[in-house]
Amino acid sequence: MQNKDTQADTTTSKQSFNHNQLPLVVGVDLGGTQIRTAVLRGPTLLSRVSLMTGKNPSPGRIIPRVYTAIQEALDKAGTTIEQIAGIGIAAPGPLDSKTGVIFTPPNMAGWDHVPLRDIFTEHFHIPILVENDANAGGLAEHMFGAGRGCNNIVYLTISTGIGGGVIIDGKLLEGASGTAGEVGHMTIDWHGERCPCGNIGCLEYIASGTSIARKANEAIHAGEGIELLTFARTMLQHSTTVPNPSALPTQGHDPATVELRFPPEETDDTTSLGSETGDEQQEEHLHVNARTVALAAESGIPLARAIIENAAQAIGVGLVNIIHCFNPEMIILGGGVTQMGPMLMEPALRVVQEHAMKVPREAVRIVQAQLGDNVGLVGAGALIYYYSKQ
Ligand SMILES: [Zn+2]
Repeated sequence: MQNKDTQADTTTSKQSFNHNQLPLVVGVDLGGTQIRTAVLRGPTLLSRVSLMTGKNPSPGRIIPRVYTAIQEALDKAGTTIEQIAGIGIAAPGPLDSKTGVIFTPPNMAGWDHVPLRDIFTEHFHIPILVENDANAGGLAEHMFGAGRGCNNIVYLTISTGIGGGVIIDGKLLEGASGTAGEVGHMTIDWHGERCPCGNIGCLEYIASGTSIARKANEAIHAGEGIELLTFARTMLQHSTTVPNPSALPTQGHDPATVELRFPPEETDDTTSLGSETGDEQQEEHLHVNARTVALAAESGIPLARAIIENAAQAIGVGLVNIIHCFNPEMIILGGGVTQMGPMLMEPALRVVQEHAMKVPREAVRIVQAQLGDNVGLVGAGALIYYYSKQ
């Protein structure tokens, strides 16, 4: 991403924290496509096991596989469940973290009011905590990532969907029924399209990777995207390989905070692109994904540029709303779409510069997340540390 602030962060409030004193925990990152388990000490992964969720992700099929994956992670780390302080589970919302019940996540077919915490407690007989994945990600960045030492942060993750975790005065904002911080479903365009959540003009329905892809494919089907389609076909033929930029610094690192400043400055960084943002391409029904749209925009195709610009402005409006509602000292951006770089972030930050109220705007730093692909696992483990302090 552009505007890298390569200087070491000199914030005095950063904790120099000895992770070695933290107990071992197990993290479970329960996703719509992948399930991952790990044994962790703080942000450090001692082992990691991944398995595909598969086409039939019913609880009866998935839960025993998670048990096995946890055991494998314990074996790999050379430890046993008796040495573990607790198991944290980051799962797709909506869910109630107080009871550990998962409601009906749209990408987990067959899940309907599953009392995951109680099921796991009965099996493992150690503390179990369940939290929505974006909240867990926010906790991870707060405790071990870009937000260390900051007590007022908003974590915004933009990939296939858009999620948020809000930490105010050092506490995770949960709300009356555990759904606070659903920043992906704030209204950006109240004359816009209906989001599957029921609301109209949600940020997620405009600016997620899935939405960027959807807008491109709608234009193609309407006959407006010949140039984009030709670009996508050429890409497919050449199977262009773009380095995966989501390989961000992970555990054990103390990378300098990458800060996005506004107004943005010119640099000569190469553009990086997310890779988890849309459907696969198939020649029969060529379905363009967000990554292809971003590459097409980079190469100057007007339709692609317009789609990215629209998403960028929506993200900018979303950031303004976040700044006005929460007055955070830091907004931490994660997820593949934010890796698109200046093409996306410059217009977004321009909107912030032009629209946000001066006092909270001057108080906020907008930075990149630091925990990369492991944020879900680190966040799941962080639940045990966080709630044991409460
Ligand atoms: Zn929505």
